[in-house]
Formats: sequence, structure tokens, C-alpha cells
Amino acid sequence: VAPNPGPKTLTGTNTYIVGTSESFVVDPGPADTAYISALAEFVRPSKPAGIILTHGHPDHAGGADALQRALDVPIYGSALVQELAGSPFRQFRPLRPGQHMALVGVAVTCLATPGHSYDHYCFLLEPGRILLSGDTILGEGTTLIAAPEGDMEQYMATLESLKRLAPSTIAPGHGPIVTDPQAKLEEYIRHRRDREAALLEAMGDHNGASLDDLLAAVYPEAAGHEIARLARLSVQSQLVKLKKDGFVREERERFYRVRNVAV
Ligand SMILES: [Zn+2]
Repeated sequence: VAPNPGPKTLTGTNTYIVGTSESFVVDPGPADTAYISALAEFVRPSKPAGIILTHGHPDHAGGADALQRALDVPIYGSALVQELAGSPFRQFRPLRPGQHMALVGVAVTCLATPGHSYDHYCFLLEPGRILLSGDTILGEGTTLIAAPEGDMEQYMATLESLKRLAPSTIAPGHGPIVTDPQAKLEEYIRHRRDREAALLEAMGDHNGASLDDLLAAVYPEAAGHEIARLARLSVQSQLVKLKKDGFVREERERFYRVRNVAV
């Protein structure tokens, strides 16, 4: 676990090392010199063969460049991961959606899972059907879906596809291992639907609501706290989806309910 705890990162970013006599590293975490050199030292005896990135956010990919230089191994990730990370990587190997690869003898399926970010990939380790979920599913709480890189509509489709995949375990990018993935995925889907219903409810029948009204109604606990900014971003991306789906219309910065979602 990287030393970057916070409201979005929980106890910090989880770095995974897969393999024993040979290995690969999933999400090196932030550009923290001490952490990356400790990680390089720790993984070196198990002959590292590559670094895999779930997505380009700095708390996952920020240390990739330094770890790549220390280990001299390729970096694997979505073709878009460098764009989100903001800089090109050396020895970069772009992945294709659905690609199967065998890395250090471990069969890995690469799943394009946009939503939290447009470049996001999850990785299914075939032995044990363990899903490395990055920021798509967290060990605790829910993940932030915020524009411009996040998209709620894509995120909901991703959750449904992971439910169909039925992994046996989820190893998330933050927080503890999830041992009951189907219950967690259902909880995530239900949570988003409940939020949509609560937003529509808060708009009332005729008067509509401003973004501040909606925040006060749906995230009252966030007011005045550090997470208020995150709550606002989350509500904004939910409103984008509700407008696109024809449940809400916006007029002079007020949001009106057109029809209700089926809960
Ligand atoms: Zn992220």
C-alpha cells in the first residue's frame, strides 16, 4: 500500500505483485521516491517482467516511469493511459480490449472498463478468477465518477459487464480485498440507481432544483467538508447521464424532472 491515504485513495493506492519466481507489478502508485525504490528492491528477487497500469491517474501511474527505469521492463496499459498520465512511457505496450496475454505464465484477460476514467482497464487473472479492478470497484465506499475523464453512462455499463463476468475475488486499487464480488457489484449498481432516484425526488414536481439544492438534498453530510467538491463532481456526472437518458431537462441552471427512473 502506497503512503498516499486520503478521501479518494482510502488507506492509499494498492500495488499488486503477481507471481513468485517471476512476477509483474500492477499499479506502482504515486511518484513517491521512497515508495518506488522500496518497491523496486522488494520485487527485484522475483524477476519482474512488466508493469501493468489500470489507468493513468497519478495515484496509480505516477510512479510508473521511475519503476520502469529501476527495473527496465515494459509498461502495459490502455492505448489512452499515456494521454491521461500526461506523458509517454518508455517501452510502452498498448493493450487491446479483451486481449488475452500470458505474463510470467499467468493468463491475464485485459478488459476495457471505462467509466471512472476513459482509459480504465481491469485485469482478470485466470487462475482463481481474481479481478484487479483499479478504481472501478473499491474495497470500501464507492468510486468517484467525474467529468471530464469519467462518464456515468459508461460506468454503469462497465458495472453490468463485470457482474456478467462473475469474478471470484476483487483486488481493488484502494481498500481491502472483496471476497463477495457479486454482492459488491449489485451494491454499486443499486447505489447509483438510488442516487438517481434521490436526485429526481429532490427536483420535485414543478419547481426544479439548482445544483446546490440537489447537493444539499443528496449529500447533506458533505457540506463544508473536503468531500463537498467530490460530491459536486459526482452529482454533475449523474445529471449528465439523467439528461442524456431523458429523465431530466436543464433550464437556466435549474434541473427539472421529466420522468422518474424505475427503481
Ligand atoms: Zn483513478
